[in-house]
Amino acid sequence: MTAVNLLDFDLAGLAAYCEGLGEKRFRATQLFRWLHQRGVSDCALMSDLAKSFRDKLSSVCEVRVPAVLSEQASADGTIKWLFDVGGGDAVETVFIPEDDRGTLCVSSQAGCAVGCRFCSTGHQGFSRNLTTAEIVGQLWFAEHHLRHRLHLPEGSRAITNVVMMGMGEPLQNYSALLPALRVMLDDHAYGLSRRRVTVSTSGVVPMIDRLRDDCPVALAVSLHAPNDALRDDLVPLNRKYPLAELLAACDRYLESAPRDFITFEYCMLDGVNDTVEHASQLVDLVQGRGVRAEPLSCKFNLIPFNPFPASGLTCSPRERVKAFANVLQESGIVTTIRKTRGSDIDAACGQLAGEVQDRTRVAERRSGRAAIPIVPIDASAARALAAQALERPA
Ligand code: SAH
Ligand code: SF4
Repeated sequence: MTAVNLLDFDLAGLAAYCEGLGEKRFRATQLFRWLHQRGVSDCALMSDLAKSFRDKLSSVCEVRVPAVLSEQASADGTIKWLFDVGGGDAVETVFIPEDDRGTLCVSSQAGCAVGCRFCSTGHQGFSRNLTTAEIVGQLWFAEHHLRHRLHLPEGSRAITNVVMMGMGEPLQNYSALLPALRVMLDDHAYGLSRRRVTVSTSGVVPMIDRLRDDCPVALAVSLHAPNDALRDDLVPLNRKYPLAELLAACDRYLESAPRDFITFEYCMLDGVNDTVEHASQLVDLVQGRGVRAEPLSCKFNLIPFNPFPASGLTCSPRERVKAFANVLQESGIVTTIRKTRGSDIDAACGQLAGEVQDRTRVAERRSGRAAIPIVPIDASAARALAAQALERPA
């Protein structure tokens, strides 16, 4: 029988589990803190728990984190890990350091079923949903590994923000996502505020409503087109949940969202969705000129398309991106142009592929960027680091 993975539980789940083992529910809080705040995976080391409880835990459960297959660091400080999730699948997690924050970009699925034309994960197809432990494990590993590696003082955090913008469509893996979000927010675990945890979705309308009811965190919606005809082509999920329904769900979400705006992501594709006419249509769409009753409170984040060979697409020239941003800004919509991070290690938005089975494509991609400074840590060194993080006492 496979041992229960303690990273699969949010606090309520862990309390119920401990009760099932004949322990008082409040013991779960202590255990939860050892796991997530201190990064301890060996129950024998949890010194303020009764010896009998520790022994019981050690015999029936464990902390299982996906093994690190590789670690790559970009010249700009971005770090990407490739995690082995078994069965030939791997997923990627990216740490993006900035002056005032450390953001972790987390994956929710191996592959993705939505199949957006401009996304490398989408081109890979869908393999499987990650478990809660595999989602939380990415944060658990990154936080405790980085604290150690960056020599952070006791009590400080490496990761201040989480964005569910790695591989996969988080709202198509809702049952695993929800407990994972609760762990991220829990004061006894990572204690991140709702504003600092962002779920990014291509527009799974019913699940936007569920998230609003169950665990409202910051919401980013991947829009990419101002009309249904174009969006049907770029984001096939639009055929099921067209723009009017998607924007109505955004309105409903705002009723209980931790931020008073929705972030719309818009990937700039040369000659596809990037003209000033497209920008004007977008303004009409969100500001309600003849289309909606009320303007929608939103910000736009324009993402320069990060190319990959199979897409057949290219990024809009810089001037066109600026002209597009101007149209939105002049209509009073806060608009930013996302700075691409980690592109030298294929860690930028939409470049995550996590492939392990298709070695030829990995080799192909690597050869194409030989001149770029890359600091690879080989798999055995990365595994040793992972083992060290797993064994490190508090
Ligand atoms: N499935 C979710 C979250 C993962 S994708 C979603 O689609 O929102 C995270 C973001 O990266 C999305 O906004 C997505 O549209 C964007 N993206 C995907 N491929 C990209 C690419 N090649 N270049 C730039 N952004 C891309
Ligand atoms: Fe899936 Fe998001 Fe990529 Fe679309 S952009 S294929 S929804 S991961």
